[in-house]
Amino acid sequence: MEEFRSFVRSNVCLADYVRLGVGGTVEYFAEPESELQLLSLLQYCRKRNIPARVIGAGSNILVPDKGVAGVVISLNKPAFCDISSGGKGSQPLITAGAGVRLALFITEAVSLGFGGVEGLIGIPGTVGGALCDNAGSSNDNIGEWIESVRIANLDGTISVLSKDEITFEYRSSSLDAGVILTATFRLESGDESELLKRMQKFWIVRKSQQPCSDQHVIMAFNSTKTGASASDLIEQVNLKGTRIGNAAISEHNSNFIVIEQDANNNNNKKTERGIVDDVKRLIQLVQDRILEKTEVEIEPALRIW
Ligand SMILES: Cc1cc2nc3c(=O)[nH]c(=O)nc-3n(C[C@H](O)[C@H](O)[C@H](O)COP(=O)(O)OP(=O)(O)OC[C@H]3O[C@@H](n4cnc5c(N)ncnc54)[C@H](O)[C@@H]3O)c2cc1C
Repeated sequence: MEEFRSFVRSNVCLADYVRLGVGGTVEYFAEPESELQLLSLLQYCRKRNIPARVIGAGSNILVPDKGVAGVVISLNKPAFCDISSGGKGSQPLITAGAGVRLALFITEAVSLGFGGVEGLIGIPGTVGGALCDNAGSSNDNIGEWIESVRIANLDGTISVLSKDEITFEYRSSSLDAGVILTATFRLESGDESELLKRMQKFWIVRKSQQPCSDQHVIMAFNSTKTGASASDLIEQVNLKGTRIGNAAISEHNSNFIVIEQDANNNNNKKTERGIVDDVKRLIQLVQDRILEKTEVEIEPALRIW
């Protein structure tokens, strides 16, 4: 990796890059400053069979204590964080870099009078992560608004995919096979102040359902195929508040797992080993108990690396 030393560091602790605040290191952590750097790195990795993964804001990723091999790529540099719009009226098109925070993308769209995505406000993450996970609520997912996506393939080439060439399913998409670079959304023209009010309402509701913003937290499960909410099922089988080691099911919303802070030391516990295993055991316990008591299978929402 010597030739990439201007933007690749070795043995980087991923706990600093995930919302849960725990997990091991990665062999190489890359923060390319341009598409060219990214493409050269992908080609290099492909030739040498080095696994390459992408991280957005790390809101949905669980990193094992033992760390991960290969390279983790973050698109947090300005080259991947631009937003541009295609004008008002009949063409409410807006293009965002994959590294743009979802909240910034939504507020920018609303300030342009472009409606549609304001209901997603409050979902943590980046545009790239949101598209990969097809983030959303029970009746509104980001993939519905996509026009096209520019993606770097793992062989270092670039493709532009139209919406018909992308599959969006519940909390997943076909975009996880490459590195999303930019995404263009076709939104709806609307009144800026009305959209702002709607966005504020959604924000208040979503924030009231989430644990505190300073907690190390991860959303644990998807709703079931029949639409049953994971938090309802967890409460039905009396697991709200259950704790294994340092991981606990949030008292505030049972579909979140929080890392308990030390009462005397409010720092996170990222250096302590075993906490990721606590999270995995808690997930397993919930799945087993729900299956046993209700015969319903629930799937984790988070991605385990
Ligand atoms: C408090 C809290 C509340 C949440 N509420 C919701 C909710 O209401 N609805 C919902 O759907 N989700 C929710 N989530 C889950 C999470 O916010 C979403 O999955 C979000 O879209 C993840 O974005 P991210 O940038 O953090 O992605 P990451 O967690 O960093 O990555 C997620 C996946 O996307 C991939 N990825 C990231 N960037 C790219 C890229 N550029 N190209 C290709 N792949 C990429 C990663 O490799 C990984 O597989 C919540 C999470 C938390 C912690």
